[in-house]
Amino acid sequence: MAIQKTEKIWHNGRLINWDDATIHVMSHVVHYGSSVFEGIRCYDPPAGPAIFRAHEHIQRLLDSAKVYRMEIPFTRDELVKAMVETVAHNGVWPCYVRPVVLRGYGDAGVSAVNNPIEVYIVNYPWGKYLGHENAACDVCISSWTRLAPNTLPAMAKAGANYMNSQLIKMEAMANGYIEGIALDVNGYVSEGSGENLFVVHRDRLITAPLGNSVLPGITRDSVLQIAHDLNINVVEQMIPREMLYIADEAFFTGTAAEVTPIRSVDKIKVGKGEIGPVTKSLQKEFYAIVHGEKADRHGWFTPVPVRSRQPVGV
Ligand code: PMP
Repeated sequence: MAIQKTEKIWHNGRLINWDDATIHVMSHVVHYGSSVFEGIRCYDPPAGPAIFRAHEHIQRLLDSAKVYRMEIPFTRDELVKAMVETVAHNGVWPCYVRPVVLRGYGDAGVSAVNNPIEVYIVNYPWGKYLGHENAACDVCISSWTRLAPNTLPAMAKAGANYMNSQLIKMEAMANGYIEGIALDVNGYVSEGSGENLFVVHRDRLITAPLGNSVLPGITRDSVLQIAHDLNINVVEQMIPREMLYIADEAFFTGTAAEVTPIRSVDKIKVGKGEIGPVTKSLQKEFYAIVHGEKADRHGWFTPVPVRSRQPVGV
């Protein structure tokens, strides 16, 4: 889906016009993939727009930057405030919020000590990613392996990691699937190109631990918390590939995917090939919280004070 532009983008502490948020072709990031970023949703509960798990996302952004020795001259609270300011100013919600930190224009070599760190926060309207709420998706195991340990750090949400994600996603789509699941370097289930993965196998909800080259997903964490709340038996445990074929249920989690059931893997039906009861109850609880139908009992929302909705595509 084409990006629908909004009025302003936050850059290094101030709001600038959308069309002015450009970079030079010789910026470090263009050649070496040197960016870290976040993807966050601002929902539309009845009480007014609210950013979901803003602090956790910005903490992950700071963590990603730290791994890559990028010094961000803003604190977590300042960046959360900047997100709120951007969404409030643009008056567009529900929306996706995209903070991105990159190494800019300076030296041409790989070493980045003389390249400035640029921080941007963008927001724009965005809907469902892998289908609608009641849809389940058909996926495949990718022929591409997820990032091996000690190559590109999987715990960092860095632009360069998404070259691997592109290979996974494009191969899956070329073969008629909606998404690919990557195994880790040892052949254990890792994650989708842009989602974490859960399976239900014999009354246990299972997701891969961080050691299997997965991003520490904020939605993954939210679903783990909701599973505890609902007294669902949950474990973080390595998942052999074949468990996907014999699982009773499987689903993806992610900011974009939210909670998306998986109907088949490699054309083998997951369970009965329909949304299972555990997925359904987690999905129901998750959507009830993010749509404001249930109380925000874990303090996951940061409210955005807006005056009025503004048109998009200005
Ligand atoms: N894994 C990858 C590779 C992702 O890109 C994403 C999306 N950020 C996720 C997992 C899910 O993370 P989150 O729930 O924080 O969006």
